[in-house]
Amino acid sequence: MTKVKENISLLNLSNYKIGGPARFLFVAKTEQDISAGIKLAKAKRQKIFILGGGTNLLISDKGFPGFVIKPDLDFRSKKGEKINIGAGTSISDLLNFTVKNKLSGFEWAGGLPGTVGGAIYGNAGAFAGEIKDSVELVRSFNIKTEKFVERDKEECNFEYRSSIFKKKRGEEIIVSAVFKLALGSHEKIKTAILEKIKHREERQPLEYPNVGSIFKNVDVRKFPKGKLGEVAHVVKKDPFPVIPTAYLIAEAGLKGISFGGAMISPKHPNFIVNAENATANDVLALISLVKSEVKRKFGVILEEEVQMVS
Ligand SMILES: Cc1cc2nc3c(=O)[nH]c(=O)nc-3n(C[C@H](O)[C@H](O)[C@H](O)COP(=O)(O)OP(=O)(O)OC[C@H]3O[C@@H](n4cnc5c(N)ncnc54)[C@H](O)[C@@H]3O)c2cc1C
Repeated sequence: MTKVKENISLLNLSNYKIGGPARFLFVAKTEQDISAGIKLAKAKRQKIFILGGGTNLLISDKGFPGFVIKPDLDFRSKKGEKINIGAGTSISDLLNFTVKNKLSGFEWAGGLPGTVGGAIYGNAGAFAGEIKDSVELVRSFNIKTEKFVERDKEECNFEYRSSIFKKKRGEEIIVSAVFKLALGSHEKIKTAILEKIKHREERQPLEYPNVGSIFKNVDVRKFPKGKLGEVAHVVKKDPFPVIPTAYLIAEAGLKGISFGGAMISPKHPNFIVNAENATANDVLALISLVKSEVKRKFGVILEEEVQMVS
């Protein structure tokens, strides 16, 4: 059975429910599939995009004119306090696995959407935790050499919302990871995860399709010195001192502003939500408005956390 499909809409593979079609879509369930998929993409001379859970992507209205590969390796196993997880596993399945096995270390990720592969790629983090904290080893497939590579945590070059995989810009497909956790109490782990989920439900506009925070928070060290006094009271650790971008957007008077079907969320202004059949261009217009207004008011150039696909 062929696993490649042609001219497939990416709308339902995007948490934003935005985006045109992929020329080709290939869902890989095993390492062998990944290697076969890449051979096929090369034979068809297509550019390649790696799709995880689609929770951090703004896909162009024209779609992706190439080969989208979705590494859907969904397995998990445990050896003592270490777990080996397929990159396509959702973070919520990973958390259920840790609760079931009384393993502590991922509580910060309660309510974090997306897959293990996407979280490693962008070193996802929240509540002062980051995926890198538990990484022991990451296994990936190099698209150029068509070989599997294993890296320890140091070799993954994790930084704030970044990793070697992001720096190499899609040259490698993450296939699985080994995490080192610690034995803990079933109840405590479960309660901590549920607390984070509740916290998100209260503060994030989850009633609309969205991709989380559009912009990175601003490193205090990069904030104009003359303006620091105005924002000192909102500085938080994430995982180093930052000024929440949501605050800057609210102070720039942009809460609730809409363009087409997209809206700057009044509940959490760093979220631009798909309020009603938004297009990628609607979202881009608001991104550009936010950047120019925040620069005008605070002298800061915001950096996108969301990844553009075109
Ligand atoms: C409601 C909401 C809340 C969020 N909160 C947070 C938060 O608190 N902290 C945070 O850091 N993020 C947050 N996000 C953003 C997002 O969930 C994370 O960035 C997530 O880790 C992305 O994973 P994904 O599988 O959806 O990746 P995708 O969005 O599919 O892809 C993101 C990038 O990762 C690459 N990628 C994906 N899988 C692989 C793979 N297997 N191999 C190589 N590259 C790959 C893609 O090519 C793309 O460049 C939030 C999003 C939403 C919708």
